[in-house]
Amino acid sequence: MVAKLDDLPIRDDLKGRKPYGAPQLAVPVALNVNENTHRIPEEVAVDIIGRLAAAVLDINRYPDREFLALRNALANYLGADLKAENIWAANGSNEVLQHIFQAFGGPGRSSLGFGPTYSMYALIAQGTGTIYVDAPRLDRYELSPELIREAILEHKPNIVMLCSPNNPTGTPLSLSCIEAAYEAVTEATGGVVVVDEAYAEFGGNTEVSAINLLEGRERLLISRTMSKAFAFAGARVGYLAADPAVIDALRLVRLPYHLSSFTQAAAEAALDHASTMLATVNDIRFQRDRIMLELKDLGLDPYRSDSNFVLFGGLEDPNGVFEALLAKGVLIRNVGIPGTLRVSAGTEAETSAFLEALRQVLKK
Ligand SMILES: *Cc1c(COP(=O)(O)O)cnc(C)c1O
Repeated sequence: MVAKLDDLPIRDDLKGRKPYGAPQLAVPVALNVNENTHRIPEEVAVDIIGRLAAAVLDINRYPDREFLALRNALANYLGADLKAENIWAANGSNEVLQHIFQAFGGPGRSSLGFGPTYSMYALIAQGTGTIYVDAPRLDRYELSPELIREAILEHKPNIVMLCSPNNPTGTPLSLSCIEAAYEAVTEATGGVVVVDEAYAEFGGNTEVSAINLLEGRERLLISRTMSKAFAFAGARVGYLAADPAVIDALRLVRLPYHLSSFTQAAAEAALDHASTMLATVNDIRFQRDRIMLELKDLGLDPYRSDSNFVLFGGLEDPNGVFEALLAKGVLIRNVGIPGTLRVSAGTEAETSAFLEALRQVLKK
């Protein structure tokens, strides 16, 4: 007996919707979801296994619901005088974002993003019954304080989503844009500003984190993840830095014991080796810049990027190029922006494989 989705009594607002779904294909070169494609160092892997082994001895008990050791480790990693009470974490930053929408959004409330941006914002808004408004960007997907201010005053959102740098375009975001967003939302609704810094570690100047703006801004929330630079996507660990009152709000909506003992143990071990875990970041940046240069050489149009991926335009038939690359074992991403594709910077070998395959496909 197999029912169809349409036969089920699901919520009206979910009917006809599609789940998030970047293709998961077994290919030699997968550069489609912005993972760090380097394996984690063996010494860290060994330490993680040791901690998991210790954790399994107590696995009959619920984990620390407050995951204090992990929050301490994350505060320590972020620096800037943050304490455990400023930190929240969940199973990926997607779950952190969902907690934010559950606590600050919901029926009768609205959120605002600047598209094209991370597709999960609209999906999480949908799942939590929050209205999502997509405001346009400037030329080449840039943002300015003025544009942000006007959009916030016009739409009066309860949640403002700023992706810094922006996925899928790579566009860096200045701190003045974040300050403008906070000021405008304070005037408009007293809502929250969420800065999604999933790719922060790849930025040219890691000093330009919104973390430095937290002081005195109790409705500024900064989301981070261990999925990208930290090479920990499979472990599902995302986190947030904010005023302790914000953490109290998120506690109201989280499921009890949402972070398993294994997740906590593995993340704590990885954070103990933070500099080793981040050792590949420089190389990835180098490969990103190499992609930019070589795509320009091919007559394509890469957008400026502060992340570990590059969006590039100048393609007459993006889908044809996507399929031709896939036939050569190279998986990248069609994010649906006309004339463009997006590629993650991989290892030197993977990046070379992508560039060589692209040259062949474009016959250059
Ligand atoms: C990859 C990504 C995330 C991270 O998701 P996780 O759930 O932490 O794996 C968050 N925001 C953006 C913009 C991303 O690209």
